[in-house]
Amino acid sequence: MLAWEVERPGPVDRGPLVRVDKEVPQPAAGEVRVRVRTCGVCRTDLHVIEGDLPVHRARVTPGHEIVGTVEQLGPGAQRWRLGDRVGVPWLAHTCGTCRFCTTGRENLCLAPRFTGWDVDGGYAEYAVVNEAYAYAVPDTFDDEEAAPLLCAGIIGYRALKRANLPDGGRLGIYGFGGSAHITAQVALARGARIHVMTRAPEAQALAGTLVPPALAALDRGGTLAIAGIHLSDVPGLDYQRDLFEERTLQSVTANTRRDGEEFLREAARIGVRVTTSPYPMDRADVALRDLAHDRVAGAAVLVR
Ligand SMILES: [Zn+2]
Ligand SMILES: [Zn+2]
Repeated sequence: MLAWEVERPGPVDRGPLVRVDKEVPQPAAGEVRVRVRTCGVCRTDLHVIEGDLPVHRARVTPGHEIVGTVEQLGPGAQRWRLGDRVGVPWLAHTCGTCRFCTTGRENLCLAPRFTGWDVDGGYAEYAVVNEAYAYAVPDTFDDEEAAPLLCAGIIGYRALKRANLPDGGRLGIYGFGGSAHITAQVALARGARIHVMTRAPEAQALAGTLVPPALAALDRGGTLAIAGIHLSDVPGLDYQRDLFEERTLQSVTANTRRDGEEFLREAARIGVRVTTSPYPMDRADVALRDLAHDRVAGAAVLVR
């Protein structure tokens, strides 16, 4: 099959991602093989490819917003039927036994695995997935719209939860990419007032410098939730100005499967509209370069 692999992590313009021809993967016990129909292109893929995140699997195939069709069941797999449409997200596996997994916080699992980082992802014709971590995709979304929901949507939803926004509250969104344009619709449907702050592309790499002004803009008792998996260093904070009066700074780490299920239900119910920019699967490198240089409107999606 056709697949993309990270040959050697480095700046995306230097071609760290290569096209290869490799064996179609076989599902192990409890896994299913999915024929990839679409796969979203997420900023986290860039962090994997450029080496901002350490290598977890050499020559990994990126991609963790997969929409596809179940076409082979591994031994003992029984959750899905052949032909089912499923979504394969970032969270690929949790241990199920650590103190976080057993208390409803599997996003903080001590031994998690992630799609497109620890296990091969969806920049390929086929992917295998542990059946317990796949989602049913609501029929209201086509394959292209559904892909960005699986990370940009779910993580944005988790960030919104972590922001503790009160009913009718005011939400500031810094940057307006794939995740924000989905999350804003959820917040609007809940009656929030929204302010969007965008910045020049060259500021993108300096995301950490946004933290102090974003904190300073909070109301008393307000919360700043940061949804990125990787951030440049945060400059020094002024306690009185940035944190006192019970301002809260929160990070967002992956999500639980429950978050994902809640979000997909809510997105279908309120009719979230997803703006996508399609790229053929064999142009994944171009899609990533466009994302790196802020040339993508909405969410980039690889299509077969
Ligand atoms: Zn665990
Ligand atoms: Zn992602």
